[in-house]
Amino acid sequence: MLFAPDTEEALQFIVDLANTTATASRSGADELTTLAELDALLLTYSGRKDRDQAELRAVRETRDLLRAVWTLDRDDAVEAVNRMLREARAVPYLTRHDGSDWHIHATEPDAPLAERIRVEAAMALIDVIRMDETGRLRVCDADDCDGLFIDLSRNGSRRFCSVRCGNRVNMTAFRARKAEKQ
Ligand SMILES: [Zn+2]
Ligand SMILES: [Zn+2]
Repeated sequence: MLFAPDTEEALQFIVDLANTTATASRSGADELTTLAELDALLLTYSGRKDRDQAELRAVRETRDLLRAVWTLDRDDAVEAVNRMLREARAVPYLTRHDGSDWHIHATEPDAPLAERIRVEAAMALIDVIRMDETGRLRVCDADDCDGLFIDLSRNGSRRFCSVRCGNRVNMTAFRARKAEKQ
């Protein structure tokens, strides 16, 4: 295992959030435009949920922000992480809720949802930066996709956000080779 389970879970959440954009989603449409879609994405998220347009807007802005942070080099990522923590006045503490074991939170449960998403992302990114593994935060290699993914493979050679993208690119390359031969 590369990262702690809760870090991996938080990184995966960033990916799930980031990949709701039209350029990364499976449907090809923006999958975070309604309160119902927000609700579905945050099903497992505890704490305050206002379920209004302002919250949706704030989470969409956070989606853009985390997308940008994902591709920063290590030193710039440090700046971005520190800024997110500072702006939220994050104070880490151990907590246990909903049947979970002790784990770290750095915001109060009644802080705005988008702020809690940013701080949780920042806490996970701290681990990635300290372990010098920011190179594992990747963007899909397919020309028509900017899906994010975490490369957890042993040799760090994963190229695509999904099997779907890998197959599509391989099929295109295969057809091109075949056409060349004819
Ligand atoms: Zn928790
Ligand atoms: Zn992709």
